[in-house]
Amino acid sequence: MDYAERLSSHSEPGKRPDEDGRPTRSEAEEAVRTLLRWAGDDPAREGLIDTPSRVVRAYEEWFGGYAMDPEESLRRTFEETDGYDEMVVLRDIGIESFCEHHLAPIIGRAHVAYLPHKRVVGISKLARVIEAYSKRLQIQEKLTAQIANTIAEVLRPRGVAVVIEAAHQCMTTRGVHKSGVSMVTSRMLGAFRSDHKTRREFLSIIGRERD
Ligand SMILES: [Zn+2]
Repeated sequence: MDYAERLSSHSEPGKRPDEDGRPTRSEAEEAVRTLLRWAGDDPAREGLIDTPSRVVRAYEEWFGGYAMDPEESLRRTFEETDGYDEMVVLRDIGIESFCEHHLAPIIGRAHVAYLPHKRVVGISKLARVIEAYSKRLQIQEKLTAQIANTIAEVLRPRGVAVVIEAAHQCMTTRGVHKSGVSMVTSRMLGAFRSDHKTRREFLSIIGRERD
């Protein structure tokens, strides 16, 4: 049984976890009821009665990245490119992730570029890599590095650049309450790291040339 099958088998109501110790759906729903009581409300009142099952289903979507293999989506490449060797840039890809310290949403945009070496990959595949890593508990720095490293390792291009700009709701809705602040992280590999012209061209395309 592979990892994805193991996870989906856990989605069956009431089924016991196997060797990795994942809780059952009803245990997860009970944990939501506990948090509702901790917040000061009554999980038995009409408006909240179905909330635990809705939250658990939402978790399957929000954290669906654990069941995805980010490398798998990059394995199908195209080599008939007529020698195209210029930068490929995906700009303004929406990112929805969750901070691993507070389970609060991280909402932002990612920009991804690579310099092809003999082969290119479908743009939806790059978006899948971003999704596989963002639909997990994350910190933005690690998310940025994982996306760049995976593209570099699987596609073996001449360089990879990833920039993420995102707002962290754990910072805007609690704690320091700083709204309108976004965090910017970047990881530059290969030519994007060693060649300042390449890096500047990328930053100019994504509208951040003054960085
Ligand atoms: Zn946080």
